[in-house]
Amino acid sequence: MTAFLFMLGIGGACGIVLAVASRVFYVYEDPRIAEIESLTSGANCGGCGYTGCAAAATAVVGKKAKPSVCVIAGMEAATAIAQVMGMDPGTAETLLSENECRGGDRAEDKYEYMGVTSCSAIDSIHGGKRVCSIGCLGYGDCIKACIFDAIEMGPENYPVVIESKCVGCGACQTACPKNIIKVKTMSDRLLTFNQFDAALSPCAQTCPAEIDIPKYIRQIREGDYEGSVHTIRERNPLLLSCGRVCPHPCEDKCRRDIEDEEPVSINQMKRFVADFEMNSGSRFNIPCAPSTGKKVAVIGGGPAGLSCAFFLRRLGHDVEIFDMMPKLGGMIRYGIPEYRLPKKVLEWEIEGILNLGIKSHVNVKLGQDITVDSLKEKGFDAIFMGIGAWKDYNLGIEGEDLNGCYTGIDFLSRFSLTQHGDSDEKIFVGKKCVVIGGGNTAIDCVRTLVRLGADEVSIVYRRTRKEMPANMVEIEAAEHEGINFHFLAAPNKVVADENGNVKGLEYLKMELGEPDESGRRRPVPIEGSETVLDTDMLVTAIGQGPDVSFKETDIALENLETTRWSTIDSADPETLQTNIPYIFTGGDSATGASLVVEAIGGGRRAARSIHLYLNGEEVTPVKRSLFKTHIPGTIFESVPGIEQSTRTEMPELPVDERIKTFEEADLVITQKDAIKESKRCLDCCRICYNRDVAA
Ligand SMILES: Cc1cc2nc3c(=O)[nH]c(=O)nc-3n(C[C@H](O)[C@H](O)[C@H](O)COP(=O)(O)OP(=O)(O)OC[C@H]3O[C@@H](n4cnc5c(N)ncnc54)[C@H](O)[C@@H]3O)c2cc1C
Repeated sequence: MTAFLFMLGIGGACGIVLAVASRVFYVYEDPRIAEIESLTSGANCGGCGYTGCAAAATAVVGKKAKPSVCVIAGMEAATAIAQVMGMDPGTAETLLSENECRGGDRAEDKYEYMGVTSCSAIDSIHGGKRVCSIGCLGYGDCIKACIFDAIEMGPENYPVVIESKCVGCGACQTACPKNIIKVKTMSDRLLTFNQFDAALSPCAQTCPAEIDIPKYIRQIREGDYEGSVHTIRERNPLLLSCGRVCPHPCEDKCRRDIEDEEPVSINQMKRFVADFEMNSGSRFNIPCAPSTGKKVAVIGGGPAGLSCAFFLRRLGHDVEIFDMMPKLGGMIRYGIPEYRLPKKVLEWEIEGILNLGIKSHVNVKLGQDITVDSLKEKGFDAIFMGIGAWKDYNLGIEGEDLNGCYTGIDFLSRFSLTQHGDSDEKIFVGKKCVVIGGGNTAIDCVRTLVRLGADEVSIVYRRTRKEMPANMVEIEAAEHEGINFHFLAAPNKVVADENGNVKGLEYLKMELGEPDESGRRRPVPIEGSETVLDTDMLVTAIGQGPDVSFKETDIALENLETTRWSTIDSADPETLQTNIPYIFTGGDSATGASLVVEAIGGGRRAARSIHLYLNGEEVTPVKRSLFKTHIPGTIFESVPGIEQSTRTEMPELPVDERIKTFEEADLVITQKDAIKESKRCLDCCRICYNRDVAA
């Protein structure tokens, strides 16, 4: 009995001690750790940089690793882990390192290192080895820091990231004293804009869509056409269209142009790879971030709307496009004619964008079929207005509404509708046609009229050829196709016949006077120089502005601020947010009639602002933004060490053949020429470029 009681006492005492100990020494394990561990691959492979899946799960819960930590389980698991953590699904995206500097040995040495072989040490002692103040120091601290062997020293002595091995752990970013290696998600990359302190070539600084031009050309040179398409598409979803119609402002700042007086044919190479994808019979994969559950309505399916929708969708938002016309495309469908941008090419391009899961509604006009309130009722959280500039300006002269008088956009869009079976209207074509204006619309009108069989087609423009705003290649093509040009001619009045039909255009001859505010010499009429040009069809194409008539029919838009040119006002051209906080704009509706590539850049900029707005963040411009400026010191006057080489000519249909048809007139360069042209690129960075690389 005594023994029994003794044992019972010991047992009770142990129980009390254990109960107290369990309270004192209790270690709480967050139940999310087990849940997250069950979502990882369970392979304990160490690929994530942690000792096993349990350690990786603990790191996620401790906010030391991202939900995408498991390099094997994939995006779905990452999204589920993000949900367990109650995080925005966007954080589930995979991280990848990227080295911005391609400088390598091309930037001359500036300092002796005295035996020091660490980037950090060199940076703190000497400030750097190379002339370029922002460039890579070349001692590979990032390589030493990477335990996954995902970075190696490239042939030009700068680190190259091997994407297949990179797990995005960020060790390289921490090790780099120059902030060159950046670890970014796909969304971060889509939302990157040119900044003053970035490693940017002059062409990439100039491109309104901010494409990494040297990178896509280098990929062509290496035969990586798919990579090249991905590089372009990271900034521009309309590469087939731009490859055909972009007037390539980037080429104006090409350093090769300084030595050869012939820039690299950047845009033709864009068309080459874009056509390569289309002709390959399949589409390259376009990844999207996990869904955010937020909804955006895009009004207008032109380049700005398509670009905005593309980037928002890739950032994980639900997007629906509403357009008043029967098909999407805007001016690149209804303005730019078939012989410059075939509809089947445009269809393929737009289909690829919609395939991301973007819904479209056509024949739906804002202010008539839908209103802002009806969109809000359907659960849209933000609205992008990319309504373009569809209202033709009038000349304001006597007789401009006579029979036989048209306006440019009206004429081109009505013809496009009939040409592609969306209307059965019979389009009138005169024998002697006169088009007034000097921009792309005027040139497209005259070249269309030639193809429609007009006997004589003339352009009347009040300044000289040099001042014509149309793309130079278009002006030259019109000259080859037999158009008569009447320069320094200001329309005075339209002359009618006895039946009220147009029979002539009276204009005044002009001479150039003093320069105006734009620096161009102002045309001044010469008294008594009235001249009449016979015509039975007159088209006025002197410019166009946005049609904001919805302000009268949509009560929510009554107070939307617009400018005196009817463009939609955004207080800041970089954020493109209007005075109604959930409404954003971009493209021609924000800038006035401009370029496709401008509209694409504006669409992406607006997508960034909408993304910030939807995440509840302040809508502010990009920090240290390079918006429409150049980094000082990067625009050179001479480029020593370059051998001369000639630019690849664009192949085109012979003139006598093309004026009888709407077949595409400009053709694509061959693979051999694309590679040859890619070798003309100096692979410029901020101040570096390749020397002696003549093709
Ligand atoms: C004849 C012509 C030739 C050109 N040539 C070139 C060229 O060679 N190179 C170049 O870079 N640029 C060229 N441009 C300019 C270029 O086409 C435009 O800058 C570009 O299309 C602008 O894109 P956007 O999306 O802002 O507008 P748009 O392309 O005009 O698209 C606006 C869209 O909004 C829709 N919309 C308008 N109002 C409403 C509403 N109330 N409700 C619903 N939908 C609405 C329209 O149907 C349209 O689809 C040319 C323009 C014209 C007119």
